[in-house]
Amino acid sequence: MSSNVLDIAELEFLYYARITENEDQRMKTIYLDNAATTAVLGEVLEVMLPYFTEQFGNPSSIYPLGQAASDTIARARCTIATELKAIEAEVYFTSGGSEANNWAIKGVAQANAKKGRHIITSAIEHHSILHTCQALEKIGFEITYLPVDRNGMVDSANLKAALRSDTILVSIMFANNEIGTIQPIAELARITHDHGALFHTDAVQAFCHEAIDVQTLGIDLLSASAHKINGPKGVGLLYARKGIAMTNLIEGGWQERGRRGGTENVSGIVGFAKAVELTSAERQQEHDRQTQLRNHAIARILAEIPYSRLNGHATHRLANNINISFEFIEGEGMLLQMASRGICVSSGSACTSGSLDPSHVLLAIGLPQEIAHGSLRMTLGRTTSYEDIDYAVDSLVQVIGNLRMMSPLWEDFKAYDSVSLIEALAGVQNS
Ligand SMILES: *Cc1c(COP(=O)(O)O)cnc(C)c1O
Repeated sequence: MSSNVLDIAELEFLYYARITENEDQRMKTIYLDNAATTAVLGEVLEVMLPYFTEQFGNPSSIYPLGQAASDTIARARCTIATELKAIEAEVYFTSGGSEANNWAIKGVAQANAKKGRHIITSAIEHHSILHTCQALEKIGFEITYLPVDRNGMVDSANLKAALRSDTILVSIMFANNEIGTIQPIAELARITHDHGALFHTDAVQAFCHEAIDVQTLGIDLLSASAHKINGPKGVGLLYARKGIAMTNLIEGGWQERGRRGGTENVSGIVGFAKAVELTSAERQQEHDRQTQLRNHAIARILAEIPYSRLNGHATHRLANNINISFEFIEGEGMLLQMASRGICVSSGSACTSGSLDPSHVLLAIGLPQEIAHGSLRMTLGRTTSYEDIDYAVDSLVQVIGNLRMMSPLWEDFKAYDSVSLIEALAGVQNS
């Protein structure tokens, strides 16, 4: 008897395994989450591979195998410094954007604590900035979190008002990872300098996608990451203007000018530089192409799905970012139904998609919790096509329709002719 039961279970298992396998083969995956991470380009992987095998030398070793690796890192640093209009000695390789953000904030705070203990940032920063600031608050620093307007913009008048004689650092992100809003960086940096403080920007989402000249923009410190620009995961950089007081991150080695010790991620750094080269060479072309795709998608969604609204600035916005809220919709259900159609999208940041808390960014732009919960982010990449976008929007129209049909909130709304929160918000914005 028992063996019979096992046989049936086994058969069932095989049956379902085959169905899933067939479905996997039939279903195309459409990746629209390039703000979370991107695919490594073939050319990038190609230049990385030799550094795992033949070119495995330690850059600190004196013999040719080591020196070859050291020269490679020097060339990579030069490529990246040129992209930023910086000099090589101002570029420090890190393990990514989060590490660079932690280092910038803690490093400047520790080295300048005698001058002052006040730091200004914004309410919509990445958690690697916000949580670092919260950690500093516990040890006696004061942090001002600037609000943003309904489009996610920091108001320079608010920055001016918040600056104090003991302000040592202002950190405002270049472009937001959830809603794509691009900040008036040059103006914010100028105001910061007028008050004698340093200006840091988390440029992880903007680096290479937007042209960034640290000289003309007046940026003192900048964070970037390779895996957001079709490079490998686990490598990034901190640009720090020459002469800036900042503590070392890792003691115990002469790597990165003695400020971040430890044997370098040679293959990662090589891949990072290649990704910078390729991404910046196609910057204008990709910017224009993705902007068109983005605007097409936004126009279709707003026209075809009632009670929807665009989050983030309409024009001061990353070319690849679409963030829309739908009333009477629960975000998780929407993501799962999109996933079942092979579409990879997110509800905000990768970090919040696993939790039930609404995004701090969407709350900061004034969305009520209910609306923030029903939000969707689609971020385009180099391989995103018109067909992909139209398939995603067609699917979205169906998914929202299905979910609303099952929603008691939607039924009540239809039955009692209640007030739409999204329409009310639009009214506030237009008045
Ligand atoms: C992804 C991201 C980071 C973190 O970068 P990692 O390299 O993944 O650590 C920081 N800030 C922003 C705005 C990001 O989008």
